[in-house]
Amino acid sequence: MEPIIGIDLGTTNSEVAFIYDGNVEIIADGDHGILPSCVGLNADGKIIVGAEARNQMVIAPERTAMSVKRLMGSDETIKLADQVFTPQEISAFILKTLKERAEKALDKPIRKAVITVPAYFTDTQRQATREAGEIAGLEVVRIINEPTAAALAYEMNNAETRQILIYDLGGGTFDVSIVKIEEGVIEVLASTGDNHLGGDDFDQKITNHLAEHIESELKLQVKDDPLVMARLRRAAESAKMNLSTVTYTTIEEDHLGKKDGRDIHLSLEFSRVMFEDMIDAELSRTMESVSKALEDAGLPPTAISKTILVGGSTRIPRITEMLEEKIGHAPHGEIDPDLCVALGAAMQAGREMGVEHSGVLVDITPYTFGTSALGMLNNEPNPDTFVPLIRRNTKLPARKSKSFYTVYDHQDAVDVKVYQGEAKNALDNVKLGNYTFYITKSPRNSEIILDFDLDLNGILKIKAIEKKTGKHIDAVIENAISRFDEGELSQTRERVENMWSSSGHAQMSEADVDQNKDSGDDLPAQFGEIVKRADELLDLASDEDKQEIINLKEDIQDAVKDNRMDDAEKLKDQLDDILFYIG
Ligand code: AMP
Repeated sequence: MEPIIGIDLGTTNSEVAFIYDGNVEIIADGDHGILPSCVGLNADGKIIVGAEARNQMVIAPERTAMSVKRLMGSDETIKLADQVFTPQEISAFILKTLKERAEKALDKPIRKAVITVPAYFTDTQRQATREAGEIAGLEVVRIINEPTAAALAYEMNNAETRQILIYDLGGGTFDVSIVKIEEGVIEVLASTGDNHLGGDDFDQKITNHLAEHIESELKLQVKDDPLVMARLRRAAESAKMNLSTVTYTTIEEDHLGKKDGRDIHLSLEFSRVMFEDMIDAELSRTMESVSKALEDAGLPPTAISKTILVGGSTRIPRITEMLEEKIGHAPHGEIDPDLCVALGAAMQAGREMGVEHSGVLVDITPYTFGTSALGMLNNEPNPDTFVPLIRRNTKLPARKSKSFYTVYDHQDAVDVKVYQGEAKNALDNVKLGNYTFYITKSPRNSEIILDFDLDLNGILKIKAIEKKTGKHIDAVIENAISRFDEGELSQTRERVENMWSSSGHAQMSEADVDQNKDSGDDLPAQFGEIVKRADELLDLASDEDKQEIINLKEDIQDAVKDNRMDDAEKLKDQLDDILFYIG
């Protein structure tokens, strides 16, 4: 069978994937699965591609090209030293490198590929991509849309009709698309975004902050020194990436220059909160695009059954929070967001080859792990509000930290409780541990950082750190995942129920339970009617919708009980939207 590879030809990075023994995998060159989409001529006039080209950008910008994807389909040309290239030719060097990677790994010649392009690419841009493939010696059997590829990577084996939102924030571009999957056919319903927004802009903001700090505090002028600025930019990117896991980082760069005979070194603390403030306007703009995509597709947020994260910048935790606020469910990022599109392209290649495959294999946590803190529950302050740290479906190993603040002046201890579950009230989740952390007495609002580290074997390491002093406690929960697999849980449930009934307690039968089902009879007519309809349609709903419907039903009942009629009306509208879509 003639092999067909899948290629994500990205603005910042590119990847190639293939199906081995039924599993879709990225083809790496040594440790590197990701190829920076950079092409250059080295000092000897030889073509270089990838990290080597990217590294020479600072010292030799006149013979290095990046972000060429933005020029595809245009008449612009690119100059490397004294040679002129079309965007297709530059792209062809990237494709050739990926082709050779695949040939080395598979030990056979590769002549065919599926290549992805943004959904908004015009015919001319698609044609230019095809030409780039041909120049590289590849027959492009199919050009597919990037959101389609991402949806394939996640939804290949799901037969239901679904509408999926793909939020793709890379190094230099942002796209949001809504696709509909019906009987294996994927249709892009809407796609919008910003061709010049991404992680590079965030790096630039941090770099400016560092340069301003150095100029004002250390009195060293750096803005006109490209080498120092390049170092700061690299430090900025790495600090940004750290902040996706930890809440603080220290940016250190030694020997930036000399001032009055003294060496100038940088050491600056930078926090996630500062970073989030810095990029708030950009992230808010992306959320406006999400609204626009929904509007264009003519869908309410509740019609989206899944949200998928694509692109390296979606590792920024604030994005998950904002999407959850907007759409009402947590987005999925368990398939590496940098590789998801290439993996989907390889799945399409598999379809073209007619081979069976089981999709992408990833190790994920089936549960959410978190803690409790003072927060709002049902519009009231509650000390047992569940705060998730590592969310369900996160790829393992996973490490996440979050900052908390003391509530009283002179508080000398905090209770660190660890829960597993999805309920908003921590007390409704499974408690895994409870640790008392004796802290230094200080004013209220002193910061405590909680850090969770969950590995592939289900070992959950917990660390609580007092920010001001560095004092910390550590704990380990040995079998955070395996202990609570569904089988064991139902065995335990059975054992408890047996003990309960054999102790003379009346046990409810299934029939009783059904009769007691919230039929909505005791609610005012307009709410009773919708609760009944929800019960009737429940069996038709997907698992995620089912949960949402049950939650909304309960929330409506609570709201009516508490006489919060405005809330009840709003919740009714939300439930109405979901039922409309199902029914
Ligand atoms: P892509 O174009 O999809 O390969 O994404 C590349 C962008 O993702 C770059 O701007 C990276 O700095 C950014 N990125 C990668 N990992 C992280 C991370 N852990 N946190 C924040 N941004 C990241």
